[in-house]
Amino acid sequence: MSETKETSSRRMRPCPICSKLSTEPDYPFCSPRCAKVDLHRWFSEGYTIPVVETDDLDDPERDNFDG
Ligand SMILES: [Zn+2]
Repeated sequence: MSETKETSSRRMRPCPICSKLSTEPDYPFCSPRCAKVDLHRWFSEGYTIPVVETDDLDDPERDNFDG
């Protein structure tokens, strides 16, 4: 509720990867390595393309068409 106004300095947060204190150059991570780990995590989670079932795929007319 009560927010303390700090003199234009970012609040240090714990690194989301290893919970160490984050450093300014690598904010919000503690090191470039943890930033990389986070990136990889995103990639590995978002890389899998969900299978979309398409009902419109089978076209009977196209199947009858005999060149
Ligand atoms: Zn870290």
